[in-house]
Amino acid sequence: MATAVRLRPRLRIRERLSRFSSIRIGGAVEAVVSLSSSEVFGDVLDMYHRGEIPGPLAFVGRGSNILFPDAGLGGTLVRFEHGDGGAGCRWLSDGQVEVDAGLSLPALARDAARRGVAGFEFFSGIPGTVGGAAVMNAGAGSGQWSDLCESVLVATGGGGHEILLPQDLKYGYRTSALLENRDRISHASEKNLPLTRAVVLSARLRGERGDPAECLARLASHLDYRRSTQPLDEPSLGSVFRNPSGGPPGYSAGRLIEESGMKGRSTGGVMVSPRHANFFVNTGGGKASEFLELMATVADAVQRTWGVILEPEVRVWNA
Ligand SMILES: Cc1cc2nc3c(=O)[nH]c(=O)nc-3n(C[C@H](O)[C@H](O)[C@H](O)COP(=O)(O)OP(=O)(O)OC[C@H]3O[C@@H](n4cnc5c(N)ncnc54)[C@H](O)[C@@H]3O)c2cc1C
Repeated sequence: MATAVRLRPRLRIRERLSRFSSIRIGGAVEAVVSLSSSEVFGDVLDMYHRGEIPGPLAFVGRGSNILFPDAGLGGTLVRFEHGDGGAGCRWLSDGQVEVDAGLSLPALARDAARRGVAGFEFFSGIPGTVGGAAVMNAGAGSGQWSDLCESVLVATGGGGHEILLPQDLKYGYRTSALLENRDRISHASEKNLPLTRAVVLSARLRGERGDPAECLARLASHLDYRRSTQPLDEPSLGSVFRNPSGGPPGYSAGRLIEESGMKGRSTGGVMVSPRHANFFVNTGGGKASEFLELMATVADAVQRTWGVILEPEVRVWNA
């Protein structure tokens, strides 16, 4: 992906993981490396091989779907991040775009809408990156990542690359083949292999021709809807549970939780949002242990009330 300036990865030693998760929870991590472009991904591997950063390496975007452990993590957190500028996004012909793993989804949605490329509007309210969306098959309302995805470029062991097509990626509701890989990639017994194919570097997406004014209007109405229904000004991880396939027809996880009487329920500094029952918010000093306890309480209430077993959508990382 072409960027104006090739910035070296930024290394920080001993950081709080809470700084790198949208719910502001998580203990210490040995090292954090931030990449402003996946072009410099090779530098991270060089740093690892030179012994400048400890393994295992763990790969994240904005941490908007990860519950980090209170006890912290050994090794290095590798973050793909971009500002909201045009970097990390190269438009090709016919609504086709090459996007860097660290590009923010709302920035991509705005850029597409301004250019009159339709289909990206739903990204406007998802506060993650291209890498996180490719792994999670992020989506909202009428759209999901896999509707737009033509291919994903991943880093493979030994420093190589591979292009994966939708049939390789096995996309389903908030899941993909990339998610089947371990979140944290251990190098323990692997001589020269700190990676599996799970590291997303970039992707090719395709939208449809549209009218810029109509695209921008759809984008604005997406955001208005979310602002009126979700606690966007409080730290959260978005939806905690996946919408279940069983249960009363048309009932979302949020509605099941709400109608089990759990809205507003707290454990320590973590609360079921009074605005959207499938969002847990950090009301101050929240801990992962409290989040997990509240998850268990809520899942139990829903099972007792509705006979439905809720499954987590958030990624829970262990120390
Ligand atoms: C307020 C709010 C609203 C939300 N609304 C929605 C919504 O409507 N729809 C929806 O689908 N989600 C939603 N989410 C959840 C989240 O934003 C999405 O899952 C998003 O795709 C995660 O992107 P991320 O960059 O933050 O990924 P992270 O949370 O950093 O990571 C998620 C997973 O992807 C992996 N990963 C991330 N980047 C890479 C990479 N480059 N290579 C390999 N693995 C990687 C991580 O290891 C982890 O397993 C919401 C979250 C919040 C806080």
